[in-house]
Amino acid sequence: MDLLGENGGPVRIAGRELGRDELLGWASAVAAEIRGADSVAVHATATPETVAAVVGGVLAGVPVVPVPPDSGPAERAHILGDSGASLLLAAGGAERADGEPPLVPVDALPRNGGERSGADADATAMILYTSGTTGAPKGVLISRGAIAAGLDALAGAWAWTPEDVLVHGLPLFHVHGLILGVLGALRVGSPLIHTGRPKPEAYAAAAQDDGGSLFFGVPTVWSRTAGDPSAARALGGARLLVSGSAPLPVPVFERLSELTGHRPVERYGMTETLITVSARADGDRRPGYVGTPLPGVETRLRGEDGAPVPHDGETPGELHVRAPLLFKGYLNRPDATAASFTEDGWFRTGDIATIGPDGWHRIVGRASTDLIKSGGYRIGAGEIENALLAHPAVREAAVVGTPHDDLGEQVTAFVVADGVEEKQLIDFVAGSLSVHKRPRVVHLVDALPRNAMGKVVKTRLTAP
Ligand code: ATP
Ligand code: MG
Repeated sequence: MDLLGENGGPVRIAGRELGRDELLGWASAVAAEIRGADSVAVHATATPETVAAVVGGVLAGVPVVPVPPDSGPAERAHILGDSGASLLLAAGGAERADGEPPLVPVDALPRNGGERSGADADATAMILYTSGTTGAPKGVLISRGAIAAGLDALAGAWAWTPEDVLVHGLPLFHVHGLILGVLGALRVGSPLIHTGRPKPEAYAAAAQDDGGSLFFGVPTVWSRTAGDPSAARALGGARLLVSGSAPLPVPVFERLSELTGHRPVERYGMTETLITVSARADGDRRPGYVGTPLPGVETRLRGEDGAPVPHDGETPGELHVRAPLLFKGYLNRPDATAASFTEDGWFRTGDIATIGPDGWHRIVGRASTDLIKSGGYRIGAGEIENALLAHPAVREAAVVGTPHDDLGEQVTAFVVADGVEEKQLIDFVAGSLSVHKRPRVVHLVDALPRNAMGKVVKTRLTAP
């Protein structure tokens, strides 16, 4: 089966542009180099070399393992060792350490190769490592068929066509930047402008000078854009702004809407499931909600005891997913794979959600870190984070449960703010939410620990 569309526009990454034919020629030279390998690692810098290497893997039918270029030695050794990649495609300045697979320098290959082949829909296209927000990154086996189905569903939901110009500056080693942001553009046929880094001023320039119409960002990108009114206003002429990978705070949604005139589309997904729930280009968009399931996706909620949870828009439960675009399993982790499915075959996301009678989903957070059990209440961290972010002095907020003798857990907030005291923030939240949801403890900190996707790593939050 073919993963890439027949035709398409150019790909520009950090100012270097490749036409479609040049890209395919280069990628097919990569394909000839790696044919027969069990899997290949790619040093996944934000460069045209990375795109040529990944597309080379797709053309050769060889699974690709993107390696974050800024990963520390332990993470890199984990990914290279665990994946068993037999070659390391050097896309932009990779250096080989002792014990790593042999290097293939992508930039040295010709750009007019003719090597093409395909693979079956159930062949593994990518081994993507999860963000490592909750533990060591796990290798997720993603088939060609899942990627094709996932991208086609999104193209429908977002009315994404070859007329669009896709713009983003996300890392090229996760679902968001690589599968949606690169393979999506190549499958749909829209030109891609990758801004190197996801900066508001670069997004603004792509909108004004290059006809950028469809913009992808993680919440930190949209939060920075909302804080840069002139860049945000420059996005007024775009067609669609899309947010995902972590919750988009309600105040950011609102500020972005005011400045750009666009209500952003939020979508929810995981490395294991690709994107399963999204708002639609031609439909409603609600702050704090991630939309409704994509065609072919079924969702349900279950309690800790496994019992059904009503879809009443209020009662939280663990979100389960059943869909043709699910992963094939975790590499080398049959135990983890088995544990992530219920007996009746649903994938357990580990995220807590509510589902309304109208099918709209709200992600409360991760079961492991975002559901705080305090004094008999179950409190979602995100609601309190949104309440804190609504205070004008607060720039960033992360809320967790910490042990408390009497309550079991207490609501504890880590806040980056200017000129405000802990007590004022506690009173501010108590003024907008029910009193039991107010933080008992607020730590004012200089910064929150974040991973490469800009997600807060809650397990690394420590009191100053
Ligand atoms: P790890 O599994 O290694 O701990 P991770 O779960 O962060 O890392 P990803 O697969 O990249 O790795 O991220 C998926 C998770 O991101 C989801 O399970 C969910 O918690 C969160 N997420 C994604 N999109 C959204 C969204 N729109 N709103 C809220 N959370 C989101
Ligand atoms: Mg995860």
